[in-house]
Amino acid sequence: MDSSDLDFQDTNHDDLSTGLSPWGSQQGLSVAAPERDRLKESIKTDIAIVGAGITGALAAEHLTSLGHKVIVLDREQPGLGSTRASTAMLQWETDSSLVELTGLYGFETAADVYRRSRAAVAGLMELVATHQIPCAFHPRPTLYLAAGQVGEKELREELALRQRAGLPGDLLTYGALLGDFGFDREAAILSPESAEADPLLLAWSLLRIAAGRGARIIDADALHFHDEGQGVVIETSGPHVIEAAHVVLATGYVMPHFVMPACHTISSSFALSTVPQRPDQLWPQRALTWEAAEPYLYMRMTADNRIIIGGEDEEIADPEMRDAMLWDKTMRLKEKLLQLWPKANATISHAWCGAFGETSDGLPLIGAVPGAKRLFAAYGYGGNGITFSYLASRMIAAMISGDRREWFDNFALDRDPRKSTQGQS
Ligand SMILES: Cc1cc2nc3c(=O)[nH]c(=O)nc-3n(C[C@H](O)[C@H](O)[C@H](O)COP(=O)(O)OP(=O)(O)OC[C@H]3O[C@@H](n4cnc5c(N)ncnc54)[C@H](O)[C@@H]3O)c2cc1C
Repeated sequence: MDSSDLDFQDTNHDDLSTGLSPWGSQQGLSVAAPERDRLKESIKTDIAIVGAGITGALAAEHLTSLGHKVIVLDREQPGLGSTRASTAMLQWETDSSLVELTGLYGFETAADVYRRSRAAVAGLMELVATHQIPCAFHPRPTLYLAAGQVGEKELREELALRQRAGLPGDLLTYGALLGDFGFDREAAILSPESAEADPLLLAWSLLRIAAGRGARIIDADALHFHDEGQGVVIETSGPHVIEAAHVVLATGYVMPHFVMPACHTISSSFALSTVPQRPDQLWPQRALTWEAAEPYLYMRMTADNRIIIGGEDEEIADPEMRDAMLWDKTMRLKEKLLQLWPKANATISHAWCGAFGETSDGLPLIGAVPGAKRLFAAYGYGGNGITFSYLASRMIAAMISGDRREWFDNFALDRDPRKSTQGQS
């Protein structure tokens, strides 16, 4: 473990995020937080999911829908870890552009990753619609703005690759972008089929659906995992153990030491929400707007017309250093909001910051823990965390049932993101 990691045993929700996000009640919607039971005796189950954030919630909903007996354990309140800090832009475009991913893994692999990410957002939409989940979920287009070294020429190259991969999108040149959207940037790619939600309402609702199918949500701290061939025994901080045929680790940015792949880092990210805007202060189509720069600035609206703007990432994992920056970063985000969208009422209603996990190739960490066949990791890292958590829930369910696909390797914990296959593009 190095200084950019978060300690598995000592990191609590307060270390993961600070400040207030607007989540938990949108458009008058509210969902009660799911109750946790105490662990009063040792128990056995088919599948134990460690972590009751959005990743654990998606896994619990899906695995119970397939008939598995599931226990979800969390040592703190469900959803109040990184999930409540998320700005919940549910995008299929990944943090790494298709051009970048092609440079790393070749076109076919990169295109496959993008198509699976797109299918994951579509799957999320279907899931929310099927269960009529009250989580302010709305389909939205995205607007990917030229920024930094990425101008119109680079966006054209990106779009050409996307089109070759069968992905939708259009280029807006300066005049069209300014005329149609009011953003003063060299160009942008406008793409359909992404979405937004209230991540806390979504996670709590999914846990309640799983609980309705018999899943137990347990208040327990998982300390050690013993892979015993036929199953895994989880030692908790109390006298009791949980024995499961399979374990899914959904502990967010806090990973056990035996998982920790070299390609991940923890940094810090910042966000604010404004007071509700008047209708004439909103940009068209409520597009999820983000910059083609690293680190990038991004904006979305909420169902009650607030603007959320986030970014200003710093390469620090230490929660105290991060929290000390919150005021300055909030002021900087406010300034950037007014530069990008001068019409905004930039009065701040919420400001928060959180740990932010990333991988060097922008892809999540999903699959069997190397050397432990019954232990699976579901880590949806990066700005597509939630999209990838959905993907993780489907992939891990397939792996548990013995289904192995070649493409799973693209997200494996022991992949080598430094491997360049430029020749394949
Ligand atoms: C500022 C910010 C903006 C973001 N914006 C976006 C965005 O726009 N779109 C997007 O998709 N993603 C975004 N993300 C990322 C997204 O928030 C994360 O991918 C997601 O919340 C991770 O959810 P999780 O369930 O994996 O982790 P968490 O929500 O942290 O849940 C993990 C749970 O595991 C529990 N746990 C940990 N260890 C143990 C243990 N040993 N025993 C028992 N319980 C344990 C914790 O208590 C916690 O409740 C953003 C993140 C930040 C910080």
